[in-house]
Amino acid sequence: MMFGKKRGMVRIKIVIGTRSAVLCPLHNLGLMIIDEEHDQSYKQHEGFRFSARDVSIKRAQVENIPIILGTATPSLQTLKLVKDKKYKQINMLKRANGSEPPGFIVLDINDSKLESGIAKESLDAIEMTLSQNKQVLIFINRRGFSPLYECNSCRWVAECKSCDARLVFHHGLDRLICHRCESAFGVPKTCPECSSSNLSLQGSGTERIELFLEKYFKSKIMRIDSDTINNISKLNSFLEKAKNGDIDILIGTQMLVKGHDFPNLTLVGIIDIDSGLYSLDFRGIEKIAQMIIQVAGRSGRHSTQGKVIIQTRKPNHPIMTKLLKFNNLNFALKNLKQKKELHHPPYTAVSLLRTSSPDSGDGMFVEFSQSIESDISAIGPIPSIITKSRGNFRHHLIIQTTSKTLLNKFAQDIISSVSSWKETKKVKWYFDIDPIDYS
Ligand SMILES: [Zn+2]
Ligand SMILES: [Zn+2]
Repeated sequence: MMFGKKRGMVRIKIVIGTRSAVLCPLHNLGLMIIDEEHDQSYKQHEGFRFSARDVSIKRAQVENIPIILGTATPSLQTLKLVKDKKYKQINMLKRANGSEPPGFIVLDINDSKLESGIAKESLDAIEMTLSQNKQVLIFINRRGFSPLYECNSCRWVAECKSCDARLVFHHGLDRLICHRCESAFGVPKTCPECSSSNLSLQGSGTERIELFLEKYFKSKIMRIDSDTINNISKLNSFLEKAKNGDIDILIGTQMLVKGHDFPNLTLVGIIDIDSGLYSLDFRGIEKIAQMIIQVAGRSGRHSTQGKVIIQTRKPNHPIMTKLLKFNNLNFALKNLKQKKELHHPPYTAVSLLRTSSPDSGDGMFVEFSQSIESDISAIGPIPSIITKSRGNFRHHLIIQTTSKTLLNKFAQDIISSVSSWKETKKVKWYFDIDPIDYS
C-alpha cells in the first residue's frame, strides 16, 4: 500500500492482496491486475464460494476500467476469449531478465532402479549441478514420507476411517495421517487383516526425498511444504535463505513454485508426474501442462540456461511429446480445439450440484430430476472421486448448458424452489459453478 495525506484522510493508492482484496470498497479504482490468472487458488471452495479472478473481471466491467490478466500459462477460458477477440493479447517475448528458457529432458524410467523415487541419471545431474555451486529444485506434489502403507501378504492398505482416502506415513511424527481430515493414526506393526508382519511403505513424498538426499549428498537441503511452513513469515525467511544461496537443494510442493525467483537455481527435477497424467479430471491435462511450465520457470532465470528433468514411465504421452516440443501456447491451443469438438468448457457452461449426506442423498436428486428442462443436460448423480469425507457420502450431478446465462437462470430457479423439497433436510448441498475438478 502507498499512503498520501490529503485533508487529514489517508489515501491508499495501491492495494495488493489475495482473493478477498477484490471485494475491497475502493471509490476511485482505475486498474486491476490479476497476476498468474490461471492459478486455481483464485477460487474459494469454502464459506463464501467465489472465483476472485472472475469477480475481478466482472468488477472491471461494471466500473468500466481496464484489467490485466498476467500469466505464462493462460487458462483455456482466457485463451478462448482472446481467440474470440473479447480480450486483447499482449506478448512478453522475452523472460523478465532476458535469460533463455530452460531445456527439457524427458527421462524414461521404465528400466531404471529408483532410490526413494529418484533415478540414477537424476542423481548424476544433481551432483554435477552442485559441483558447479548451483542450486537444485526437486518438485513433488505430495507431502509426507510415503503415500501408501500396505500388507505384502494380503494387500491390505491403511485407509482413513472417516474418509475415502489412503493414509500417508509421516516419518517425523511416526504417524499415519489422513490428508483430507488430518486425523492421525498409530502405525500397526502387523496387518490388521491377516496378522502378517510383512508390511511396507510404497512411493515417496517430500519428506522421504529430503531424508534420502540429505544422506546421499550431505548438502544443505530445505523442504518447503505445508508441514514445514505454516505461516507466511516462516515462508519468507526460508525463501530468503534459498535466494541468498544458503541452500543447495530445495524440495517442495506447489507452494515452492508460485512465482518465486531463485537466482542461483539451474536444475529442476520433476519426480512424479505420472500419477496426474491419467486423472479423471476434465481439466487434468491443462493443469499438468501449466504446472510443468510453472515449475520449469524457476530454473535458469539469471544468466545460465536452466535444465529441467522430467522423470516418467510414459515418455510418449502427448504432454511429453507435444508440450515440450512446441510450446505451452500451441499446446494449449490444441487442447482448446479438442474442448470445442467435445463440447466441453469453456465452449459450454458446467456446474456441479454437489451433495454431502450421511446416506446417499438420493432423495434430493429424485426431486431435482423433476425440475430438469429440455435445454439442460444432467449427468448423474455419481459418487465424487473422494466419495467419503468426514463420515459423509459425497455425490455430484453434472449440469451442462450451452451458455452461462442459461445455467445461471436454471440454478436460480432451483435455489428458489429447493426449500420446499422434503428430501433435502439431511443433505448439505451447493452449486459448484465452473468446477475445477470432480474430487
Ligand atoms: Zn495382510
Ligand atoms: Zn480422513
